[in-house]
Formats: sequence, structure tokens, C-alpha cells
Amino acid sequence: DNIKKHYKQSAKLFGLGRSVVKAVDGVSFELMPGETLSLVGESGCGKSTTGRAVLYLERPTEGQVRYNGQDLSTLSGEQLRKLRKDMQIVFQDPYSALNGRMKVRDILTEPFRIHQLHPGQEEQQARQLLEMVGLSPASLEKYPHEFSGGQRQRIVIARAIALRPQFIVCDEPVSALDVSVQSQIVNLFGQLQKELDLTYLFISHDLSVVRHVSDRVGVMYLGKMVELGHKAAVFDQPLHPYTQALMSAIPIPNPKIQRQREKITLRGELPSPLNPPTGCRFHTRCPWAVEQCRQIEPEWREARPDHWVACHLVDA
Ligand code: SF4
Ligand code: MG
Repeated sequence: DNIKKHYKQSAKLFGLGRSVVKAVDGVSFELMPGETLSLVGESGCGKSTTGRAVLYLERPTEGQVRYNGQDLSTLSGEQLRKLRKDMQIVFQDPYSALNGRMKVRDILTEPFRIHQLHPGQEEQQARQLLEMVGLSPASLEKYPHEFSGGQRQRIVIARAIALRPQFIVCDEPVSALDVSVQSQIVNLFGQLQKELDLTYLFISHDLSVVRHVSDRVGVMYLGKMVELGHKAAVFDQPLHPYTQALMSAIPIPNPKIQRQREKITLRGELPSPLNPPTGCRFHTRCPWAVEQCRQIEPEWREARPDHWVACHLVDA
């Protein structure tokens, strides 16, 4: 029933812009073309699973994934394979993502060979990819181990954009990198987004990175989305107690913001996502939990314009 409601809401959003992807498990969200939607939350909250479900690398247990209005579950294997060109993923670890026995030349031309694209011009295309990610053409002759972590992630990104996708899931793409390199890679994502009209689902536990890259932010807790809204709203006026606790842990970037923000410490341990608490999944740790929270799962609703939340105590 809840899900139906979300779909009605999304039907409305479909009218506003061409929705690229829609997912997932009990809570749905849509991505608008050209935006960066980030998913945040503690490890084990389902961020990566959501990213994989959106790409249909993992079938969602509930709900649908729609891409340009098409329900992916209705597509044949062949149709899905074609669609995969449009949707790529960049993982956290640039070390294991690249085959160490392959030269960069072969890594970057492989997608063209698989999809029979640019016959006879694969190498020229690979050189162009290197240029787009800020690496020299001489890199073609090298093996992954000859590069730094940041450079390797550039190679991974070059491969991800080889087929000119519309949409990329970035799953903790800078978490394994030195802090000094992180912002370079984050800037590269931004630059490529502009050049190639990319839409990103950006998964990260690092709130300062998220603040930098996102248009909108979704907050997940134990497999559910608990809040979703524009970056400014989620960071500066969080509605959900869990988001408030997350945000209270980061330094206020703008000291002019007068709002008092004390660090909120959550009680208790993170429960197992396999056996989540009844009612509101956050009730075992929520400072404001009331009896209702233990019994009834809060509805996912638009409490403010474009600002969604699942909490009994947020007024409408
Ligand atoms: Fe806390 Fe209740 Fe809101 Fe859940 S529904 S976040 S337990 S106040
Ligand atoms: Mg993860």
C-alpha cells in the first residue's frame, strides 16, 4: 500500500522531468537526468545493495526499477545487456577493479570489442578516454600496478565512461584514496558530469564529500531510506532524528550559521539489518522514541516540498 503511494508520487515526478532510474526495496526514489543523488548512512545500511539493485546487478526483493519509464523486470536478457551500456558502476577499490595482467590499452579497448564499437579506432578512442580523465597517452602501454591509487581510479573511471553511459553508480569511489587525492577525483566526477551529461548515484559514508558532490541526499538506516531531500535541506534542516545525529557529528562549515548544534550521541548498537526492530527501525536508538514508534512503521511522506521523511514525530 505504501509502495503504491510512492508510485503515485513518482508518476507525478515523471511529468516534471525524464526520470532515469527508480528503485528500491520498500522505498522508492527517482533520479533526475544530470543530477547527483547521494546515499549516506552507516555501513550495512543497504547503500551498496541499493546501488546494485538500481543497476539490476541484484534483483530488488520488493518494488521495481524503472529506467526511462521501462520496468527492468520486463526486459529480456538481451535488452538488459544493451541497457547495461547506459549504466555503469565505479567501486571503492581501484586496486581490485583492474585486471593486473592487462595493459591499460586492453583494459580501455575491451568495452569497445565486447560491444563491437569503433572497429579499427579502439586505440584512438582509448587515448581520448585517457585525456578525458587527465592521464597521458603513454599510459596505454602500462600495467595497473605502475600507477598510484588516484591514477588507477582515473583508469577505472575512463573504462566506466567508455560506452558513454547516462548513469553511473559511484560506490564509495574515493574512500580508498588519500585525502589529498580525493578532491581531485571528486572534481573529475563533476567535470565529466558536465561534459557527458551524466547522472550519478553517489554512495558514501563521508559527509564532507557528500556535501561537495550532491544535488540531493538520501539517508538510509537498516535497509530503508529515512530521509530524502535537497542537499541544503538535509544538511542544514534535517528532519529525521537519525539524520540529525549524523549531521551533528560533523563540524559546521559555515560559522555564520547561528543554529546551535550539539553533538547527538546515539544510544545502543546498530541492530542487525537482517533482524531489524519492529515499528520504526530506529526506535532502539532514537532519543525521541515514543510507544507508537515501537509498534508502527512511520509512513514515508513529503513533509516539506521535495523533502521526504519517515518519522512519526515530524509534523506535516
Ligand atoms: Fe524516532 Fe519515532 Fe521518529 Fe522513529 S518514528 S525516528 S523512533 S521519533
Ligand atoms: Mg558499501
